Amino acid sequence: MRAYDPWKRRWLDVEIDLPEPKEGLVACPTFFDMHAHVRLNGQEDYDSLEKAAIAGGFGAVLIQPNTNPKLESVDVLNMHFQLAKDKIVDFYWSVSLFGELEPDGERTLCYSNDGIEYDTLKILNAFRRKKPHLVLDHSQVHELGGLFYEPTPIEVPKRPICSEAISIFRNVMLGLEHGFNRFHIQHVSTKLSIETILHLRNYTKVSCEVTPHHLFFTMDDVKNTNFKINPPLGTEQDREALLEAVEKDLVDVFATDHAPHPEKPNDFEKAPFGTSGIEVAFSAFYTATECLEKTIEKLTVAPRKILGIERSFELDNVIVIDPSIQWVVDAKKFYSKGKNCVFNGTKLRGKVVGMKRSGRWVYWDGEFLSDEE
Ligand SMILES: [Zn+2]
Repeated sequence: MRAYDPWKRRWLDVEIDLPEPKEGLVACPTFFDMHAHVRLNGQEDYDSLEKAAIAGGFGAVLIQPNTNPKLESVDVLNMHFQLAKDKIVDFYWSVSLFGELEPDGERTLCYSNDGIEYDTLKILNAFRRKKPHLVLDHSQVHELGGLFYEPTPIEVPKRPICSEAISIFRNVMLGLEHGFNRFHIQHVSTKLSIETILHLRNYTKVSCEVTPHHLFFTMDDVKNTNFKINPPLGTEQDREALLEAVEKDLVDVFATDHAPHPEKPNDFEKAPFGTSGIEVAFSAFYTATECLEKTIEKLTVAPRKILGIERSFELDNVIVIDPSIQWVVDAKKFYSKGKNCVFNGTKLRGKVVGMKRSGRWVYWDGEFLSDEE
């Protein structure tokens, strides 16, 4: 069958014993999601996230620190290690920029401020106090509040569309002045943010990611509280700028920002932020970009390179994709506990069919396969 090696950027002909052969399937390395939330508050845990990740084609996931409790101490980190032990998915962690932990470079790979409220002084003090490592930056001017961007046509508290770019510039500059020299901007949502990142690349290493929902939807698509996401959905001009930045490889990584909530209240002010996305991410990225090679590269090699994880293409650790299938998302069927999905009811193209880990098929066509089979 055909397989794509994203390290060498070339198609290969390979022998893989599929549980069920079918015309047109392709293989590639398992995906790496460098932006997912495991919650540990009843709304997601390592068992449910592992299944959701496998169904989405992800063999490795980097957890964000805003769990319950936050990933800020050795005790909490050890609890995470224990909960993720013996999993098929390789879990890695980003530790809070504000706690007592420092990345070890093996399992804890970087800092993150994602999901944790901070203001200018709090982040400045963190940069003053901490030893420099890669920082995953959720760029937001938290003191402005605001649920959606200002032009969004609904009656809710709003934030200026330039606020994300302001925060990107502020956070990178504050870090740079204190010895930090590697930044990864999470879920970029506006044209101004892309332009700001390009400018900052004159000073230091700044990588960035986009989510499937920011490539797919705009503020004019907001239908219900599943569309309440942080950062909010931008304008059509923003969406087009993100797609263009992907095309020109100015955006490094595709990440899910998988943010599960079992059910959201139908009140924009009360509903939490986020969309449950790990099970649909590949299909949504592929549908939005219409480029299979780019989608695979940005879900495999790119995050691993930024996080310093060496890998090469191995036939024992692959996923199988059906690129031509069309399907409609039904969030009720998710393995994640989070059924809040902005793509619910959306028709997408391409789907992950199976996953092989360490030489064994662990998932095929909606079924998890146990050891004995
Ligand atoms: Zn996040």
